[in-house]
Amino acid sequence: MATLKRFFVDNIGDTCILSGEEFEHAKNVLRLGVGDEVELLDNSGKRYVAVICDVQKRQMTLNVLSVFQGDKEATTKVALAFGYLKNADKNEFIVQKGVELGVQKLVAFSSQYASAYMSDNKLERLNKVSKESAKQCLRDIYPAVTYADTLEKALDDLGEYENKLFACEFAENSEVDLSSLQGSTAIVVGSEGGFSKEEAEIAKAKGFALVSLGKRILRAETACVALTSVVMYSLGELGDKR
Ligand code: SAM
Repeated sequence: MATLKRFFVDNIGDTCILSGEEFEHAKNVLRLGVGDEVELLDNSGKRYVAVICDVQKRQMTLNVLSVFQGDKEATTKVALAFGYLKNADKNEFIVQKGVELGVQKLVAFSSQYASAYMSDNKLERLNKVSKESAKQCLRDIYPAVTYADTLEKALDDLGEYENKLFACEFAENSEVDLSSLQGSTAIVVGSEGGFSKEEAEIAKAKGFALVSLGKRILRAETACVALTSVVMYSLGELGDKR
């Protein structure tokens, strides 16, 4: 059964207006018109089935037919914080894979050995990637991507998570058993330059456990996907549909 085309919009009532980029995509790329049904998402976790009832030059109006609670979000909250990389495509890859794997919070951060700089446009682009990836993998919510200009700020932003994992390339072994995680989990992965010993000490002082991903040095984007996958599997989020 073909899935309905999906759009994130604000202010969904009995009717809804689709405008801007989502309108352009619906009308000019997907060639949608009056009578076509679509799925609308307002980032609340609810899903709305709606039918296009009017198309204007810059917007279309839809009538909402039904609403139901989505079921695609992870039951356990997982956050992924990653050192902002020089290569924009790799940052987008990390965001895209984090969304597909079900994380509900994404934080890009700068650190001692990171040499890439964030801008409002770049951050906006990463949030667009999050939205598009959530639509593609049938999620009901797209996680916001935020930026922390220091590692400490990123770590503090994750203070509420029960499990705090700091992927450390120079850790001899992991200080936590990844096979039996329970509860909300924060993951921190360094940039190309990795972490300094002082940064690892700061993380430990803030309650983070050092995690080893084995004896090989993984690229930052590989480490993000690998550790997030292990965490999601351990939490029961990568396996039988529940
Ligand atoms: N510049 C570092 C070096 O040469 O040792 C490598 C940094 S690595 C490209 C980027 C990040 O991935 C690291 O900061 C760490 O968070 C994670 N990472 C990569 N390999 C890892 C491993 N074997 N164990 C734990 N974390 C790892």
